[in-house]
Amino acid sequence: MYLIIGSGLSGIVIAERIANVLKKEVLIIEKRNHIAGNIYDFKDENGIFIHKYGPHAFHTNSKKVWDYLSRFTGWYPYFHKVRAVVDGIEVPLPFNLNSIYKAFPPTLAAKLEAKLIDSFGYNEKIPILKLKEFDDKDLQFLSNYIYEKVFLGYTLKQWGLSPEKLYSSVTARVPVYISRDDRYFQDKYQGIPENGYTAMVENIRDNPLIKIELNTDYKDIKNKLKFEKLIYTGCIDEFFDFKFGELCYRSLNFKPKTYDVEFFQSLAQMNYPENHDYTRVTEYKYFLNTQASATTVSFEYPQKYETGKNDPYYPIPNDDNNNMYIKYKEEAEKLDDVIFVGRLAEYKYYNMDQIIARALEVFETVF
Ligand SMILES: Cc1cc2nc3c(=O)[nH]c(=O)nc-3n(C[C@H](O)[C@H](O)[C@H](O)COP(=O)(O)OP(=O)(O)OC[C@H]3O[C@@H](n4cnc5c(N)ncnc54)[C@H](O)[C@@H]3O)c2cc1C
Repeated sequence: MYLIIGSGLSGIVIAERIANVLKKEVLIIEKRNHIAGNIYDFKDENGIFIHKYGPHAFHTNSKKVWDYLSRFTGWYPYFHKVRAVVDGIEVPLPFNLNSIYKAFPPTLAAKLEAKLIDSFGYNEKIPILKLKEFDDKDLQFLSNYIYEKVFLGYTLKQWGLSPEKLYSSVTARVPVYISRDDRYFQDKYQGIPENGYTAMVENIRDNPLIKIELNTDYKDIKNKLKFEKLIYTGCIDEFFDFKFGELCYRSLNFKPKTYDVEFFQSLAQMNYPENHDYTRVTEYKYFLNTQASATTVSFEYPQKYETGKNDPYYPIPNDDNNNMYIKYKEEAEKLDDVIFVGRLAEYKYYNMDQIIARALEVFETVF
């Protein structure tokens, strides 16, 4: 029997492959009272799908991943858009040519636009650090503006750390997008499962060879279980009883609120780098274009992760954490019958498409 710890995307995709391809039995142990891990969603009293663990927009360039998921769900054709409130004005993110025209007077905006296109070409994403190095006062001004107004405040709230305490890759990724394309992602395939993420995951697990035990923590039953192979998608430090210390995560607190108005804001996701303690507000009805006279939004407050008290969300990308993870990974590699897969077991941020690609790859190479 194959044993899988965790019914998130990584666990459920491997379970599906074992049951449908190998025709073998799988038992999934899940400590929460529902399946689907962090992509779990449910309908509220107004028929709006709420993403319990934060907003999820699916996007991928992988035809293999898109085709795989499309066997289990139809798609609502949704393109995620994000704006940030900067100096009281809503500007599209990533910061692009439309943002420049929103944020600055027309003559300055036209000058910046011309300089960006002349220097880098159209449809290019240029990291703001590269702009800063450029020997041009206007482009340096733009780089500093984005760093100060859009990136710095959000990063301090999101991570509870100044950017220097994170890998420079985090800062290096912040781009100016020389384009009029307001979509947050440019991937070829984008959408939201038409009946929600949980229904999609239910369809993936729909095989009598797959059994799931909810409300069961692996650590409480691990000595009683027998298995041919164990696929573990929980926290790797917990698996090894924290013998090298606790890996640091950033946690989040979502405060949902229903308003008796048709719309609360102009799009699904509004970021607040400068004001408030929350980082962003998500209005869920936009994802599936749900028609309702009321609306539900969620205010997202980053917070310190405390083992056992709240949920681990984002691995914190710096040297100390990475070095500790490497020690756990070396321990994991000594175990022949246990495979560590997923965002918690590999201490790595994965998008949904990346985790599906990873789960498919694990199945193809290990089984
Ligand atoms: C706030 C936020 C927003 C995101 N938005 C997007 C997005 O817009 N687009 C995108 O592509 N990706 C997004 N992601 C990433 C996406 O959530 C992940 O790719 C995906 O959830 C990873 O699946 P997983 O199986 O690795 O982990 P999880 O979904 O966390 O699954 C792990 C499961 O294991 C269970 N478990 C853990 N320990 C134990 C134990 N000891 N015993 C039993 N069960 C256990 C957990 O309860 C959980 O159900 C977002 C992530 C976050 C944090």
